[in-house]
Formats: sequence, structure tokens, C-alpha cells
Amino acid sequence: MVSADVVVVGGGVNGASTAFHLTQLGVKNVVLLERGTLASGATGKSGALVRTHYTNEHEARLAFESLKVFRNFDAMVGGECGFEALGFLQLVPRGYEAAIRQNVETQRRLGIKTELVSHDDLRRIVPGIHVDDVGGAAWEPDSGFADPNATAFAFAEAAQRHGARIETGREATAVRVERGRVTGVETRAGRVDAPVVVLVPGAWAGRLLAPLGLDFGLEPFRIQVSIFRWPAGLTRRHPVVIDAIRKSWLRPEGSASTLIGVELGRGHADPDTFSESVDPDFVAQSRECLAARLPVFAGATMRGGWAGMIMMSPDGRPLIDRIASVEGLFVMLGDSGTSFKTAPAIGRCLAEWIVDGKPRLADLTPFRSTRFAEGKPWVDEFHYGRERLSVSR
Ligand SMILES: Cc1cc2nc3c(=O)[nH]c(=O)nc-3n(C[C@H](O)[C@H](O)[C@H](O)COP(=O)(O)OP(=O)(O)OC[C@H]3O[C@@H](n4cnc5c(N)ncnc54)[C@H](O)[C@@H]3O)c2cc1C
Repeated sequence: MVSADVVVVGGGVNGASTAFHLTQLGVKNVVLLERGTLASGATGKSGALVRTHYTNEHEARLAFESLKVFRNFDAMVGGECGFEALGFLQLVPRGYEAAIRQNVETQRRLGIKTELVSHDDLRRIVPGIHVDDVGGAAWEPDSGFADPNATAFAFAEAAQRHGARIETGREATAVRVERGRVTGVETRAGRVDAPVVVLVPGAWAGRLLAPLGLDFGLEPFRIQVSIFRWPAGLTRRHPVVIDAIRKSWLRPEGSASTLIGVELGRGHADPDTFSESVDPDFVAQSRECLAARLPVFAGATMRGGWAGMIMMSPDGRPLIDRIASVEGLFVMLGDSGTSFKTAPAIGRCLAEWIVDGKPRLADLTPFRSTRFAEGKPWVDEFHYGRERLSVSR
């Protein structure tokens, strides 16, 4: 049996970021437990887009605070996160021109460098792009993508350098609670006693939450991505694009390929038995989507792909909270396929909440876990379509 000031359960990017930020705020004895290897969950499978464009202010703020970390990673954390600032484009369908204008205004008010761009601008930024169906587009020159494994590893290494203990291959089998208060976690190799436990277990949250009587309607989803080699003649790396018309995203992978994710409209799977490969119909759909936006890719060679597990929340937004019914229990749940880019800010907010009694960087009220029980799931006013999308981005 060992004891800690805080136990973090889950060694993905959010758990590693939380452990790091706890050490930054002076918590001496942080233990992070990871059942597999670091980044073996959604993080290691992530497209790792880093952009600040959201259809609400709250996620945009977390993304903006996180972007500052991605852009200055070595100075702020130490080590490499593999961030590449190739720029980011958000494309929206016709009918949503007012919504994107409103969202860009909100983001500019937050201090984000972003602007609306015309069809001609789009053709300049991405030569060969098909724009006839684009109603509106926003450009972020400072955004891009990162290396998700490198990011998680660097947060964990930095946490370790500041005294945290990272234990991989060690699963928390249960959260221990006595008289309504957390007392630590059980593992097969013995207990870890702690007055504070942070659950960041990604798609594997169910088995820890159920014995605590916590049910937030979370659902594990399998998400696929595939890679296409650039056709002859394409030599310039394009920016990151989220295409709300084709419900897809794309970004360069390496020096001569493009990684793409598309909406499949389904996804529930068992996180312990899911297939890590891509399905043939996904590859076909991805190629069609890619070629619809960049016709040069029609017939492009498929060069691989993979599938990973995320945890969808009922409204597609994460739950970041202190659980009122279990004193000392903090959670980051229901990543909903969009919580890589916000992990630096999420970890900092959780650490501030634990150490200072409240998150200072951002207001996390919109992310509260009680919103479903209150009958107030998250709804954005300036959305680009009301479908519940599961394409991770
Ligand atoms: C294909 C794909 C593409 C994506 N693209 C993007 C994108 O472009 N941009 C973006 O922002 N997000 C994207 N995401 C989502 C993003 O990757 C996730 O939201 C983020 O990585 C979640 O990090 P996490 O630390 O919360 O969870 P995870 O990375 O899932 O980590 C949870 C960890 O907890 C461990 N664990 C679980 N239970 C236990 C236990 N009981 N004891 C000990 N350890 C435990 C797991 O092994 C796992 O390593 C994508 C996801 C996928 C799958």
C-alpha cells in the first residue's frame, strides 16, 4: 500500500497534463496510474488537430489557452509536442454564413487570430480546392496539428521531473469511498491511498463509474481514420481543414500524405474488443470525401489507417467536474473525440480546482456533469447543423 496526495487514473494526454499541472502548483506526491502504456487510449490514435474554431465560446477559450501551450511547448512544459503551424480552415455549408461570422467574432473577442475568408482566398490557401458548395470559411494562421503521443509523453516526463510517479501497466480496479469521501483506488498490486482521485480513463470509464452509482449516459465509440498518398504533382503541404459540408477533416501526414477522418454516423463498440483496423467501406467513403474537396485525390493510393476508441457524451461535449456526491473525486469524461487540443487547459483547470478550490483559467460550469440530470444538455446557438456528429476532430 502506498499513499499519494492525488491519484490520476489514466495516462492519456488529459491525465498526463493534469499530473503535470498538479506538480506545477506544488503538489508533491502525485501518482498517475495507466493500465497499459502512456497514450494507449484515444490519445495515441488521435488526429491531433489543434484549432480554436468552435461553435461556442467555452470550448474556444480552452482551445485558445491550449494553443498557447502547443506553440510554446518547450518553454512552458519542456520537450517536444510535434506542433506544426500549417494553419487551419473551417468550411461551412450554405445557410450558415451568419453563424460562422458570429463564431469568428466571438473568437476574435477572445484574442484569437482568425478571419473570414472568401472563395478566392480559399483557392490561394489550398490550390485546387473545390469551393462551389462552401457557404463560409474561417482561417486561423496559428493553428495546425501536433504529435499526440509526443505531447502525452512530454507532459508525463515533465510531471515525473517535478516529482510525480508514473506507473504504467497498473490498472485502477475501483475507486475507494468511505462515508461519501474518496480514500484512494484499488489495484491488483495493492491500494493507493489518496484524499483526491482524478478519473481520466477515456472510453474505459464505465467500470469505475458504475460502482459509484454514476451514470452520465456515456457511450464508447470506435473512430476511424485513413491515409492517402499524394498523387503526382502535389508537393506543398496543405493546412488542416475541417469540412462541415462533407462532415470530414484532413491534414498532412508526414511529407507526402494526407490523413482524413469522416463521419460514419455510427460507432458504438466495446473498448476491450474493438478492431484497430479500418473498414473497407470507410476507406471508400474517405477517398470520395477527399476527392470531393480536392479533386486531385480521386484515385489516390490508400496507405493505411487505424481505429481508436473515444467516449461520447450525450451532447458531444466533455464533462469536466468535481463530483458533488463523492468528496475528493474529480473527472474528465466523455472526451467526445475533441479533447486532445484542449488537454493543456483541461489539465491546468483540474489542477487549479484541486489546489485552489476553483479553476482560474476558465469557467468550467458549462462542462458540469449534472447538466443531463438537470435536463440542460449543451446546445450551441451558432451551430453548423444539429446532427450529433461523432467524427473526431
Ligand atoms: C481517430 C481519432 C481522431 C481524433 N482526432 C482528434 C483531433 O483531431 N483533435 C482533438 O482534439 N481530438 C481528437 N480525437 C480525440 C482525442 O484523441 C481524445 O479526446 C483525447 O486523446 C482524450 O484523451 P484522454 O486522456 O482524455 O483519454 P485517453 O487518451 O483515452 O486516455 C485514457 C487512458 O486511461 C487508461 N485507463 C482507462 N481505465 C483505466 C484504469 N481503470 N486504470 C488505469 N488506466 C486506465 C487507458 O488505458 C488510456 O490510456 C481523436 C480521437 C480519435 C480516436
